[in-house]
Amino acid sequence: MPSHVARPANPTLWTLTAGRVPELSGSLPSRCDTVVIGGGFTGLTAALHLARAGRSVIVLESGQLGAGASGMNAGFVVPNFAKADPATVRQKLPRAKADALLSLVGAGADQVFATIAEEHISCDAAQTGWLQPAYGDDMAQILRQRAKDWTEIGRPVEFLDARAIRDETGMEIYSGGLIDHSGGTIHPLDYLYGLARAVMRRGGVIRENARVERVERNSGGWRVAFAGHEIETDAVILATNAFTDGVASRMGRTGVPLKVYQVATRPIDAETVARIAPNRRPVGDTRSNLFTYRLDRDNRLISGGMAINPIGAFERVGQAVVDRLTSELRLPHHPGIEIVWTGTAIMTPDFLPRLYRFGDGFFGGIGCNGRGIAMTAQLGRTLARLALGEAAQSQPIPLQSSRPLPFHAFTPLVASLALAHARFQDWRTGHQ
Ligand SMILES: Cc1cc2nc3c(=O)[nH]c(=O)nc-3n(C[C@H](O)[C@H](O)[C@H](O)COP(=O)(O)OP(=O)(O)OC[C@H]3O[C@@H](n4cnc5c(N)ncnc54)[C@H](O)[C@@H]3O)c2cc1C
Repeated sequence: MPSHVARPANPTLWTLTAGRVPELSGSLPSRCDTVVIGGGFTGLTAALHLARAGRSVIVLESGQLGAGASGMNAGFVVPNFAKADPATVRQKLPRAKADALLSLVGAGADQVFATIAEEHISCDAAQTGWLQPAYGDDMAQILRQRAKDWTEIGRPVEFLDARAIRDETGMEIYSGGLIDHSGGTIHPLDYLYGLARAVMRRGGVIRENARVERVERNSGGWRVAFAGHEIETDAVILATNAFTDGVASRMGRTGVPLKVYQVATRPIDAETVARIAPNRRPVGDTRSNLFTYRLDRDNRLISGGMAINPIGAFERVGQAVVDRLTSELRLPHHPGIEIVWTGTAIMTPDFLPRLYRFGDGFFGGIGCNGRGIAMTAQLGRTLARLALGEAAQSQPIPLQSSRPLPFHAFTPLVASLALAHARFQDWRTGHQ
């Protein structure tokens, strides 16, 4: 590991390969326009938009940058919903609201790559397009319609036939698939570091090891308390995702946490790369027990999975994921494991992103549902707009009650059962 990467506590492929960790210097003011709680993609994106608008902003991060899902993810940039397509979004929301949300979410990947270009962030960004191969003819029909729906709202999405998908993946098991040309891949930790540098270049202040315990009303604004300090502010953004410690419990208990394991193989050979990813497009298919892969800059394959039984899952899932890559992609040999890591994502009950209002000028947002890189670009921007005084009702992301899910402590069990059910479904329908 390069000596400048001081992140030994939870090593990931990204900590092994990241550039320099940003220096978080500068004094801590006792007041500012907005305090952002949580230094992941959502919080830093919100802070960047506020700083660009000339507002003073302080980001408080309880651990180190990258301690949350933003440092642990797989770097697939996917501008849509994990478990909902345009038709289901239109069933759940009034038509105008649904179309506004679809336009926002569909533009998420473009927003990520635009920010990377504008802020000169070096993070292996590759807007190659994202592929979703369809397993089975029924699913191909669904994706054909999904591609049409996205195209109608102006997104660069196409349906590809089985032959085109075979040429893209080297796999003969699919009945076609969808490509969103705006998707792609990034090095997520370098992207996060780049966002942090962009915030600081515009005068924003970022503090690590700053776990926020309390947010209280004071005269006309808010008082934010952390690690023996207090900051007075007009607005507060809660961007703590699945976390439930300290003030984060207000939001983290409104969704289902999912422990996801990520695996990177050792680099694979150029001939295999040319067969399974000639255009270096990231892939995520339609099976319930999702099959995904992408390449990093050194041609390591990155994929992931979940565990029904958490005991001993780290080694077991790591091995199972690489075995699956080896057999599904017909790799010439088992490539070996470079590293396995894990992180916690959050799913909302309706699989849509959500905004919360905890008081006048105090907002939060979650709901990236495994599509968080593109979604947080839009969620963070929306939260910044709210902090700047725009009306919550005029935002495309729905404002919801922040009531905790009943029996939140048992939700990991629900996730395990859902995974067991998904595997059974794949087995029953021959989609393994
Ligand atoms: C293993 C894994 C793989 C994934 N793969 C992908 C992928 O390939 N593509 C994709 O689009 N999405 C993916 N996701 C989802 C995506 O990473 C997340 O949706 C996204 O990073 C969420 O960003 P965030 O800023 O909202 O939350 P986080 O990155 O979790 O940030 C929240 C931050 O809040 C901090 N915090 C918590 N409590 C407090 C407190 N009290 N005070 C101060 N700070 C606090 C935490 O330390 C944390 O840094 C994946 C997620 C996981 C876990």
